[in-house]
Amino acid sequence: MGLGGHAEVYDGEMAALAMGIRLATGYARTTNISHLHFYADNSAAISSIADPKPTGGQQYAHTFHQLACTFLDSNPNNTISVKWCPGHSGIPGNERADRLAKRATDLSRTSPVGTTRTNAIRRSKITALKEWTKEWKRNPKEGWFAISDRIPPSLKPTKHARRLASRRELYGRVVQARTGHAYTGEFRRRFSFEPPHSCPCDDQTIETREHIITSCPRYEQHRFELRGVSPNLVLSVLAPYGRSK
Ligand SMILES: [Zn+2]
Repeated sequence: MGLGGHAEVYDGEMAALAMGIRLATGYARTTNISHLHFYADNSAAISSIADPKPTGGQQYAHTFHQLACTFLDSNPNNTISVKWCPGHSGIPGNERADRLAKRATDLSRTSPVGTTRTNAIRRSKITALKEWTKEWKRNPKEGWFAISDRIPPSLKPTKHARRLASRRELYGRVVQARTGHAYTGEFRRRFSFEPPHSCPCDDQTIETREHIITSCPRYEQHRFELRGVSPNLVLSVLAPYGRSK
């Protein structure tokens, strides 16, 4: 069966498992075979193939689930296993399946489904990201967040954000520092909170983000970390340090 250009590898694996169980259970009925083993090298397909929940490749999972239940119900000794096997490792069965799958990609689409859900999601993500990046490039960076707004749009969190995932308190502080919505003197003054708006280190200095990061003596002992990134503590250099992916 050709899946044409509107499906993903995942869909191909799901389709193959569904077709496989149809053939295998049909063959098992005419023989005395009671144990069926399926091997696939796509772990996403393996974990969803017997689960009829609404997700990508659902129609294949539904077929698989139905045929598996019929086979298992027909005899209490019948068993089915679905296992992962490493791809491209010289396992003869897997290599042959790979060759056949490649040939199938050259066939025109004969699948009853048009675009698959997985394929549609991938394409809509690409479109959304393109639009978002265009918008981000077109708009001037202004406001408090402008200085940190250097990370190109991405649908996945940056490496830096992922590292902070289990450190909620620190994550919150980074977001506060970047957006300017932190409980600093500068913020309190902007929103007309009662004074003092000065830093506890000096009555004459407004407690701004820049002051806290670059010059407040209360944080001098931690500043060596920042100097490692920008020796002169330039905010626009320090801010986008989450940019690397
Ligand atoms: Zn200070």
